[in-house]
Amino acid sequence: MAITILKGDITGQRVDAIVNAANSSLMGGGGVDGAIHRAGGPAILDECRALRASKYGRGLPTGQAVATTAGRLDARWVIHTVGPVYSADEDRSALLASCYRESLRVAGELGAASVAFPAVSAGVYGWSAESAAQIAVDTVRASGTEVDDIRFVLFNDEVYAAFEREM
Ligand code: ADP
Repeated sequence: MAITILKGDITGQRVDAIVNAANSSLMGGGGVDGAIHRAGGPAILDECRALRASKYGRGLPTGQAVATTAGRLDARWVIHTVGPVYSADEDRSALLASCYRESLRVAGELGAASVAFPAVSAGVYGWSAESAAQIAVDTVRASGTEVDDIRFVLFNDEVYAAFEREM
């Protein structure tokens, strides 16, 4: 398994699966979620609506992951995962680790050989770059995944630097 870090926009990655830092509604949002839906087009949202109407009537729970196809993106699949909102009162690290583990489990089931991750929860959800990077890198390293090309695609310099230190 190779883990690499890159700076830039995840929507341009040529990988089998792009992970989306979604919210539990699966109906899109800002940040990387908005970018993925804009670049991938309405097909992704249609599939998200179908998931809400079937398996996830109350939304996708935090720490879980589910795949859709990827619309116009180069990737074959988008794997939506819901990171925890940062809390100073409660340690939610296990939920953030679960996002990476569950996304890789779904990727393995799909037969994806390459997966690109954003820094889940490191934006609007309020995690420090340092802590988000540590959990991401540790969890992926320990995952035992069959995915052999894993990329962290980091959008801003601070988050990129934190992942670089962690690696
Ligand atoms: P969350 O709600 O999980 O915090 P955000 O989308 O707000 O999700 O932020 C997660 C990370 O994704 C942040 O570090 C943000 O800078 C980054 N990000 C935003 N747009 C993109 C993009 N197009 N490609 C990769 N990362 C992105």
